[in-house]
Amino acid sequence: ERKQLHRLRREPTITRDGVDIKLYANAESREDVAEAHALGAAGVGLYRTEFLFLQRNELPDEDEQFRVYRDVVLGMTGRVVTIRTLDLGADKADKTGLALRDEPNPALGVRGVRLSMAREGLLETQLRAILRASGYGPVRVLVPMISASEEVRAVRALLDKVALDLRREGHEIAERVPLGAMIEVPAAALALPAFIGAVDFLSIGTNDLVQYLLAVDRNNEALASLYTPLHPAVLRVIRDVIKLGKARGKPVAVCGEMAGDPMFAPLLLALGLEEFSLHPATLLELRRAIRGLNLEALRKRAPALLRAGDRKAIERWLSQASA
Ligand code: PEP
Ligand code: MG
Repeated sequence: ERKQLHRLRREPTITRDGVDIKLYANAESREDVAEAHALGAAGVGLYRTEFLFLQRNELPDEDEQFRVYRDVVLGMTGRVVTIRTLDLGADKADKTGLALRDEPNPALGVRGVRLSMAREGLLETQLRAILRASGYGPVRVLVPMISASEEVRAVRALLDKVALDLRREGHEIAERVPLGAMIEVPAAALALPAFIGAVDFLSIGTNDLVQYLLAVDRNNEALASLYTPLHPAVLRVIRDVIKLGKARGKPVAVCGEMAGDPMFAPLLLALGLEEFSLHPATLLELRRAIRGLNLEALRKRAPALLRAGDRKAIERWLSQASA
């Protein structure tokens, strides 16, 4: 069986009725990138940059960041690399050189894009490093914890300024570096019509989206049974984001853990998803699952899924879909 799975490395990810589904990799190390490439990932859909900032006293400067990002881009040999700007917060305060303040509610605090914009030069340095890496292959920028239009517009303005600066300085950077927003704060999903015109793509972070939609701390073990994407509110938000993205021609991926679990594939396909981003560890299993599914049949059953009023009903839908 392992051997059969192994053979899928060179196979496309197509549904039984012939629709191409894109599988991107989540990565944060050289090993992840090498594995993603070997497994035939369409690209890197989420490159987490936090590790560069952890367990050290001084922040990585532009050159250090540039070299790391460039190596990822080179490692993917022409496939797109989506680099997420820093997503740190007070939950990791003691492990960074950022001198973060203690906060009673780190998940609701100065994290992600809020931190990047609060610190002089932090985001600009990172964007410079990312854009310089774009001279070596296709790169996209993804911004975490977006909760309002203003943040998207501020990052867009800075990205444009940085591109101009770098060109003036003589750097060869890509003509276009698409900008994307993580959709993981409910307000961003609800306000999406107001800023979708300012982004080029979207990535749904179900790990945080579930946490914030359901008011369930993703790290609180006492609430583990409540922490699930199998909730009507979660499904509706995912469906709405995908639908709006499609209507406006903006690609939408899901990059939370949910995307990496083959069990959820029928559900996400039914909701219209065409791009998954997941850790390479389960990429081939997901590919195998998708190759066994009929997209048209699943989409026909989407209304029943959206009518499901509770977890049990969603689970029943899933067990029928996978039968
Ligand atoms: C998410 O929130 O789903 C996500 C992919 O980001 P992280 O797990 O890094 O918060
Ligand atoms: Mg997140």
